[in-house]
Amino acid sequence: MILPGATLGMLGGGQLGRMFTTAAQTMGYKVIVLDPDKNSPAGIIADKHICAAYTDESSLAELAQQCSAITTEFENIPANTLAFLENRTVVHPSSTALASTQNRNVEKNFIRAQGIATVPFVSIYKRDDFADVSNQIHFPAILKVATFGYDGKGQIVCEDLQAAYEAFDALGQKECVLEQRIDLEREISVVLARSQEGHITAFPVAENVHINGILHSTSVPSIATEAQQQTAVEMAGKIAHGLNYVGTMAVEFFISKQGEIIANEIAPRPHNSGHYTLDACQTSQFEQQVRMLCGLPAGNAELVTPVVMINLLGDVWGNSQPHWDKLLTKPNIKLHLYGKKEARAGRKMGHYNVLADSSDSAMLTAIETFAAIKAD
Ligand code: ATP
Ligand code: MG
Repeated sequence: MILPGATLGMLGGGQLGRMFTTAAQTMGYKVIVLDPDKNSPAGIIADKHICAAYTDESSLAELAQQCSAITTEFENIPANTLAFLENRTVVHPSSTALASTQNRNVEKNFIRAQGIATVPFVSIYKRDDFADVSNQIHFPAILKVATFGYDGKGQIVCEDLQAAYEAFDALGQKECVLEQRIDLEREISVVLARSQEGHITAFPVAENVHINGILHSTSVPSIATEAQQQTAVEMAGKIAHGLNYVGTMAVEFFISKQGEIIANEIAPRPHNSGHYTLDACQTSQFEQQVRMLCGLPAGNAELVTPVVMINLLGDVWGNSQPHWDKLLTKPNIKLHLYGKKEARAGRKMGHYNVLADSSDSAMLTAIETFAAIKAD
């Protein structure tokens, strides 16, 4: 076990890295963040910030030399970077686990290999690969770049085959996946921790609403059926074991109108839909990440109170600050801001958790507050 006083390394300086840093520091660890941005949300609060590219070997060697263990908050850290660090210190999750989640085609094939359903899809490497798609999926479909997409970026909805060809050109003819668009009943996610011994501790299932491909709200408890929730937790566990994953991770699921549970994607890190755990569970997903990295047992993941989490995107800022007084005067809302200087449309700036007797009543307060805080 790695105990308080030790130094932990974090690859990536975004909000997930920042919340890991806070959790680790609260428990008495020191944190070194490596991120190329000198104003990164995690870098500015860490004990030390190594401001360098993820491929800068002398900086990586410095990080490895100073840290008892290293983790990440960002799936697009080059797998080679993790492999380099693995030769020098403890690294979780592993480079191989990360590599399985960095490319949507590789990821979907991996999920299917575990016997878990994905949406019908066709891998697109070149224009010719569209020739046979109509035999494999129905339109409308969504063309997504295979690598480096997030928050709905690099995705184009295609009404027909002609539109799909045009979308491929618009995305620069990069490797893509063409997914059938599913009629969704709801979206849920499972955030879990898997230990070095392979023990899994799942948080309660989260119910998610996306707007324009970006997460807007998470409610817990979810109103998906008990059986659906149990199936999703089992599937996520299977995926975690299949990856031999160590740390906190998430699996996003679609539930179709027919009630089928379909894995959408894997996040090899804490997840936006797990931010509710910061205020509503006995242990947060970030404390769990620290615990798994340090070889400690998982904390209790039980829900303490129903909760709704609302994301605060840059859109809420307009040209000035949101009306924080309208939020902070409510005793059952917890505000989390990530310390980002510039509020751009679609940029995740923070979130808030509304705690209440039921997720319905939390949602009412959450909606009311969202309308009240928007800058003029
Ligand atoms: P993030 O990293 O924020 O999860 P992303 O860019 O990886 O986003 P996806 O998870 O692929 O994007 O898609 C974002 C959202 O768009 C989904 O949560 C869902 O609401 C919708 N969506 C994506 N693919 C499909 C699909 N095949 N059928 C129906 N809806 C979809
Ligand atoms: Mg997603």
